[in-house]
Amino acid sequence: MSSDHRFDQPRASRRFWRAIRRHCPDCGGGPLFHHWVRIVDACPRCGLRLNRGESGYALGGFWLNMLFAEGVTAVLFVGTLVMTWPGPPWDLLQYGLPALALLTPLIFYPFSKTLFLALDLTIRPPERHEHDAAHG
Ligand SMILES: [Zn+2]
Repeated sequence: MSSDHRFDQPRASRRFWRAIRRHCPDCGGGPLFHHWVRIVDACPRCGLRLNRGESGYALGGFWLNMLFAEGVTAVLFVGTLVMTWPGPPWDLLQYGLPALALLTPLIFYPFSKTLFLALDLTIRPPERHEHDAAHG
């Protein structure tokens, strides 16, 4: 039964494309967010429980979010230094990068949730019991 379900799984590229658009990586349904940062419990189309029934599941999204935010900040810092040396814009770096480091996690947050779910679903395809009974 569950092995048959695995044959119906979307390709990883399709899952990530859906996740980038903040849709359900499994079926493409949505919307998954009430507001920018408030995610629903289950996909409105297929009923997939977005925390996959595990406590602490949100930590995966947080991890991905911090990795992205700090990575962008570090790349911009080093890139600006390399491109503008020997006269880097120290004032811009001193005030702009901390502001960017604070804003980037807020902007990337919903994408980190759906992208982490896409990654997890690719590694561990969903079982039938992970979908709400109301959605079949
Ligand atoms: Zn879905």
